Amino acid sequence: MLNRLSDTIYYLSNQEDKERPTLGLVCGDRYSLIIDAGNSPRHAKDFLIEIEKLNVPPVKYVVITHAHWDHFLGMNEFDATIIVNHQTNELIKEWQRLSYDDRSLQKYVTTNQISAMCMEIIQTDMPNRDRFKLKSPDVIFENTLTIDLGNKVCILERIKSTHTDDSTIIYIPDEKVVFLGDCAYGTTTNSLFHYKQSLLLPMMKDIQKYDAEMFLLGHESICDLNEMNIYWEELTTASHVVKSISLENAIESFKLENKRNPNDNELFFIQAFVNDHIIQSQ
Ligand SMILES: [Zn+2]
Repeated sequence: MLNRLSDTIYYLSNQEDKERPTLGLVCGDRYSLIIDAGNSPRHAKDFLIEIEKLNVPPVKYVVITHAHWDHFLGMNEFDATIIVNHQTNELIKEWQRLSYDDRSLQKYVTTNQISAMCMEIIQTDMPNRDRFKLKSPDVIFENTLTIDLGNKVCILERIKSTHTDDSTIIYIPDEKVVFLGDCAYGTTTNSLFHYKQSLLLPMMKDIQKYDAEMFLLGHESICDLNEMNIYWEELTTASHVVKSISLENAIESFKLENKRNPNDNELFFIQAFVNDHIIQSQ
């Protein structure tokens, strides 16, 4: 079932056991726009079935927030204009060259091109795929793109992000809602989870310039402004004390600066920023 955020915005909650991220729907007077295409054709179909139950204008656009497989592998299901930023388009090209039969998938897992989880979802959700080819996005933008769905403006912007270099966010000024995709998360490099420290403040600036009250995240569904501010506060407080690859030093300066122990989230973020120093030093 879709969650109704307002008269014109809906979303399908993320489902972590199936690696399904949050999918969004924004409706204008004339057209509707979808945010993220799902992690498989089945995920996309499930979303489209729910949309059909609503009396909304036809889906004309699908925006993909970034080129992680769980956000775009369902894209062939949409009879709509697929929109991505330039970098996302480049990364999706690699997935267009892949074959999706079992042997090829196993080979990609062995060579770390795709994750074992990705292979499992593809095998479960796409029974007939020996000749599957991912289609190409239709509209490629550089930095920003504004779309009017009929008295409903959506602003797309490629922003700096701690998660990927190709993160697009979608802001709906009328509703003070922003879809963040996964941009506010960390990332994994060489099996190490880390937050790109140098990009934290630039990313926050890119997001906070929009007057938003509701934030949709790829794997949390929804945060209000207060929850989002707590998230930023914990991240910045953690980042501030990490200056090297030493976790001990970081925790020590956290205690000195804040006169308390870090909470669980802050500890998690401190470790992730320390890991970023480790990645940078390699
Ligand atoms: Zn992602």
